[in-house]
Amino acid sequence: MTRVLPRFDTLAAAKYESTPSDSGKRSRIDLEEVFGENVFSLHQMKSRMPSAPYEALLSTIQNGTELDPTVADAVASSMKEWALEKGATHFSHWFQPLTGSTAEKHDSFLKPTGDGRAITEFRGKELVQGEPDASSFPSGGLRATFEARGYTAWDPTSPAFLMEGPGGAYLCIPTAFASWAGDALDKKTPLLRSMHAIDQQARRALRLFGSPPKAVRATCGAEQEFFLIDEEFYFRRPDLQTCGRTLFGTKPPKGQEMDDHYFGSIPGRVLEYMNEVEVELYRLGVPLTTRHNEVAPGQFEMAPIYEDANAAADHQQLVMSTLRRVARKYGLVCLLHEKPFQGINGSGKHLNWSMGTDDQNLLEPGETPHDNMQFLFFCSAVLKAVARHQDLLRAAVAHAGNDHRLGANEAPPAIISAFCGDQLQDVFEQIEKVGSASSSKPTGLLGLGVQVLPRLPKHAGDRNRTSPFAFTGNKWEFRALGSSQSISFPATILNTIVAEAIDDLCTKLEADLEKGTSFDDALRELLASEIHEFKHIIFNGDNYSAEWVEEAASRGLLNLRGTMDALPKLVDEKNTALFSKYGVLSHRELESRFEIFVEQYFKTINIEGETAQHIAQTMIFPAAVRYLSDLLATAERADELGLKTEGVMKTANSVNELVDRLAASIDVLAKLNQELGGDDVMSKADHMRSNIVPAMTAVRDVVDRLERVVPDDIWPIPTYRDMLFVK
Ligand code: ADP
Ligand code: MG
Repeated sequence: MTRVLPRFDTLAAAKYESTPSDSGKRSRIDLEEVFGENVFSLHQMKSRMPSAPYEALLSTIQNGTELDPTVADAVASSMKEWALEKGATHFSHWFQPLTGSTAEKHDSFLKPTGDGRAITEFRGKELVQGEPDASSFPSGGLRATFEARGYTAWDPTSPAFLMEGPGGAYLCIPTAFASWAGDALDKKTPLLRSMHAIDQQARRALRLFGSPPKAVRATCGAEQEFFLIDEEFYFRRPDLQTCGRTLFGTKPPKGQEMDDHYFGSIPGRVLEYMNEVEVELYRLGVPLTTRHNEVAPGQFEMAPIYEDANAAADHQQLVMSTLRRVARKYGLVCLLHEKPFQGINGSGKHLNWSMGTDDQNLLEPGETPHDNMQFLFFCSAVLKAVARHQDLLRAAVAHAGNDHRLGANEAPPAIISAFCGDQLQDVFEQIEKVGSASSSKPTGLLGLGVQVLPRLPKHAGDRNRTSPFAFTGNKWEFRALGSSQSISFPATILNTIVAEAIDDLCTKLEADLEKGTSFDDALRELLASEIHEFKHIIFNGDNYSAEWVEEAASRGLLNLRGTMDALPKLVDEKNTALFSKYGVLSHRELESRFEIFVEQYFKTINIEGETAQHIAQTMIFPAAVRYLSDLLATAERADELGLKTEGVMKTANSVNELVDRLAASIDVLAKLNQELGGDDVMSKADHMRSNIVPAMTAVRDVVDRLERVVPDDIWPIPTYRDMLFVK
């Protein structure tokens, strides 16, 4: 048997040079030409559709008015024409089931005519509704298997796009996905409902402020972190392949402590890869804009320009799938797991969130926030919402992968608090003390002490990288999301809780106005009293410190440490009432999400437990025993020759001890892996958390010790040192 040594993989990986496709010349791309090329955009619709249906559709998209059903035929016919011109053969309703990824089923445009020929056809009916079999998607008890039918419904507010691949092109139509009884089985439907809720409430507030009552959109921009490793390594690590993270591995001698990767120049291969990712996404109309190295070796980040929440959520899915797909062309694998490598930073996703009309960001403070009453009103609403629903924000980011990050001094803690920066903090303090604010701390200019350098405007609030929810200039940044997560549910929660807070504030204002109080007085009083609702959630200090954990407890803030502490909060009475009041999720729909999230948690850990057992048993144990047998053979021969073998015997003893411990810990894990812990999802999840996780940790502890003593040439899997530094 020939064995390929892992060290040789490192060499092979390190030899990667330039793109396979090009011959050393960089191809020029025309950004303006390329952007949106594969999107059936408003621009395309306008030039291809008769004006009446186009105007009707535009009103649905821009003002949220109900869709006129007769419009669908006109859209379908121009959509088909466009897609065929672009070489598409199929169309697909593209949706986001509760798995967190996307699903599609392709149908051909072809219709046989009965005389041996065929025409292409695509009618309004097919655009508007699809009927995929729903039985294999998670439904959390919303759909019995005998009622397998599900419906997809066209979302006219997110444009159709063309996917191109080696197998040809097909048209993707973003759709919502529901059961035959009308329960939402997807992530898009509640998001759209929550956008409606915030639109309604924010418009109501704008009316009170005397602003033109325009449509208000929740806006999102998600920063995506990820790791890249050479595929040579990936395919030698069954844990990475099956679980997306390494279940074993000791810290490399050099990790991220030198801070030499962050914002460093992007390695050539990675830059080529990022370029291709960008061009593919530009074609799909995804406005990617920033790219850089992240803190950990092998870690990177890309982020788009923000869009309305629905488009942003759809586009975020395309970002994740494109990052994964294109990587393979460069001999890389993109890891979106929250914690692929223990001991160095994991990956998160920052969800930047705001709300605005077509020409106004409602969270823009301007130069002097103290006299921007409208801004203070909306900002107070956000803080009130966060204070009231810490539990929901925490639950929105709760899943097995994120348990490795939250609270681990690299990611936000499990305690939800809000950072609002010096300037805003000062304004709120003035309001609290004297009922109104009369000044805003000047932001000033940053003098760098060098004549030739320009003077830079200073930001009002410094950045606080440790806060889970931070005000960053003109938006809030929710930083606790996991890197693999869809942004839909967290955005849905933000929209809903802020809608409720605005509703509450408006109701109070309206009652005061009714009593004859002037608007200015009513507003000032309202803001002064509301501070007491959210003061305790504001924290501008170091969220990673031990003192904060204590202080947060004394403030009465929640500290929901793990997934299974946080998820049950979803279905608290307060939250069930909230979601049903704003028509975002019915009680049944919320229960179903809770059940699916718990199920995903236990399945994830179950798979990890079995993978850990298998690798330890079939790869690590044999390697350790092989080493022990080498040592013993040497000792035996030495003995025959009358040589002293202290070093060999000492090593053999300690390896023998580790082998014993490994066998014992594998045994414990294997026994626990045989049970599921009960029949219902909660007891299964509890078994995973209380039994499997500690048993896996025990196995890992021995394996990682062995990695430090077993010879390099028989260690069966690539190490962190190999995987993280080949670029
Ligand atoms: P940083 O890493 O400093 O947080 P980035 O530039 O990487 O900054 O990311 C900022 C993100 O915030 C971008 O995706 C940007 O589009 C988004 N953003 C900016 N303004 C808004 C807004 N009004 N609503 C939602 N997201 C926004
Ligand atoms: Mg950020």
